[in-house]
Amino acid sequence: MFYQSTRNKDLKVSSAQAITQGISKDKGLFVPEEIPSITFDELNLMKDLSYVERANIVLKKFLTDFTESEVEQCVSSAYTDEKFRHKSIAPLHAYDDQANVLELWHGPTCAFKDMALQILPHLMRVSTSKASNGEEIVILVATSGDTGKAALEGFRDAPNTKICVFYPENGVSVMQKLQMATQEGNNVQVFAIQGNFDDAQNGVKAIFTDTGTANLLEKNGKKFSSANSINWGRLVPQVVYYISAYCDLLKSEKIQLGDSINVTVPTGNFGNILAAYYAKEMGLPIKKLICASNKNRVLTDFFESGIYDRRREFYCTSSPSMDILISSNLERLLFELSGKNDSTVKDWMESLSKDGYYKVSGEVKEKMDALFVAGSCDEKETAETISKCFKEKGYLVDTHTAVAMKVYFDYRDQTGDMTPTIIASTANPYKFPASVLKALEGIAPSDDFECSERLHEVSKTDIPSPLANLKDKTVRFKEVCNQQDMRKCVLEKLNIKQ
Ligand SMILES: *Cc1c(COP(=O)(O)O)cnc(C)c1O
Repeated sequence: MFYQSTRNKDLKVSSAQAITQGISKDKGLFVPEEIPSITFDELNLMKDLSYVERANIVLKKFLTDFTESEVEQCVSSAYTDEKFRHKSIAPLHAYDDQANVLELWHGPTCAFKDMALQILPHLMRVSTSKASNGEEIVILVATSGDTGKAALEGFRDAPNTKICVFYPENGVSVMQKLQMATQEGNNVQVFAIQGNFDDAQNGVKAIFTDTGTANLLEKNGKKFSSANSINWGRLVPQVVYYISAYCDLLKSEKIQLGDSINVTVPTGNFGNILAAYYAKEMGLPIKKLICASNKNRVLTDFFESGIYDRRREFYCTSSPSMDILISSNLERLLFELSGKNDSTVKDWMESLSKDGYYKVSGEVKEKMDALFVAGSCDEKETAETISKCFKEKGYLVDTHTAVAMKVYFDYRDQTGDMTPTIIASTANPYKFPASVLKALEGIAPSDDFECSERLHEVSKTDIPSPLANLKDKTVRFKEVCNQQDMRKCVLEKLNIKQ
C-alpha cells in the first residue's frame, strides 16, 4: 500500500518513506492511498487480546512494507510494563452509564503523546533502514507542551538520531517546561521560542520544506524528520487505542458487536481526533466524532460555519496543549472529504497561510456535518468541570480532559443521545497541578510541587513518579531562540556552517 501527498496525490511513497520524511516536499501531508478495513469478526476476536496484540493487528494493516516481525518488534518494545504504569496500557474508566474515559496518560511522560512517541522511534529505525542511506536523522519538533517531552523521552539516545525541540516560552505549564528543560540524553536539544505554538510549528515546517537547508544537511550526512503529528508514524499508533477501547467495551458487555459508539476528543492540532476518524473509516462503528476545543475555538467555529479563520486573538489557557490556531491535520480530513481533491486542498491551505482563512465547499461541509459535532469550553467551565467530576464521581481529570467532558455533557444534554461514548483523557492531572487544585479549592500555592502534594492529600490519588522526581533534576536547557532564528539555532547545534 502506498501513501500519497494531500497536495499532489500522484506523489506516492511507501510507509517507510512517509515516516522517514515526515512531511512531503510539496508541503502536503502523507495519507494512506486506501484506508484498510477492520471486520466485526476481527473486532470480536480482538476483544480477548492484549493491547500489544491488538496493536499488531492494526499496525500491520497500515505498514505493509514492514515485515510482520518488524511490526511486532516495534510494538513489543514500545508498550511494556516498564514504560507504562498500567497493565492495560490504555484502560477505560467507566465514568457514568454512557461516558467511558480512555486514560491515555499512563506512559513515561504522563500525556497521551506517549502512546505514539514510545513507538515512533522504533518505527523510524525500521523505516530509515528501508528508505534512507544511513544519514543521521535530525528530528525537529514544535510542541505546545506534551509532544516535546514525549518525543525527547522516546528518542533519547536513539542511535544515529538527534532531536531538537522548540516550545513557546510562555505557553506551557511549569511541569511541562521542567520536564523538557531537565531532559537527559546525549542527542537532545531544547529551545524556548518567543512566540506561540503556531509560530513554532510554522518555523519547523519552513525548515523542513526549505530545499537549501535540506541540501546543506545532505552534504553533512544528515536528514530532517518530524515527530509532530504531521508525521504519519505519529497518527497510526493512535488509531489502535480507539479500536482497543471498542474491544474493551465489547468485553465488558457494555455494547454488543456492531453497536455504535461516540468518541469525544480534546483537540488542538487535530491529530488525535483524526486517528478516531481513520478508525471509523476502517469500519469501527462510530456514530459521532465530537471535537472539543478550549477558548481557542477556531475548530468549533469551523465546524459550525465551514469557514476556517485563524485571524483572531490567541488565548493562553489552562489547557495549553490545545492552544493552537492552525490545526495541521485538518488538511488530511479535507483531502478525504473533498474526494481526494489535491488541488483544492492546496488552494485552501495556501489561502490559510496567505489570507488567514478559507471556506470549504457545500459538499465538504455536508460531510463534516454528518461525521462531526463540535463544541468549546471556556476557562471558567473548565474549572467547574474538574470540580464537578471530582465532587460527583470522585474522579480527577486534568484541564484538557475537562474540556472534552464539558463538551460531551453539553452534547448529551442538548441531543439526548445516550450512545455509549469514549472520551479521550489526554493528560494526567498532576501535569497541571496548579490549575486542577485551583478548580477544586479556589486557591493554589505558587509552587507546583506544593500544589501536587495538596492535590494528593485532597484526591488520594498517586503523584506519578516521573513528575514527582522532577524536583531533584538538574535544568540542562535554558536557551531562548528568536522565532526568526530557528533555522540558525538548529544548524549551530549541528555544527553546520552556512
Ligand atoms: C497534544 C494534546 C492535545 C491535543 O491533541 P491533538 O492531537 O493536537 O489534537 C490535547 N490534550 C493534551 C494533554 C495534549 O498533550
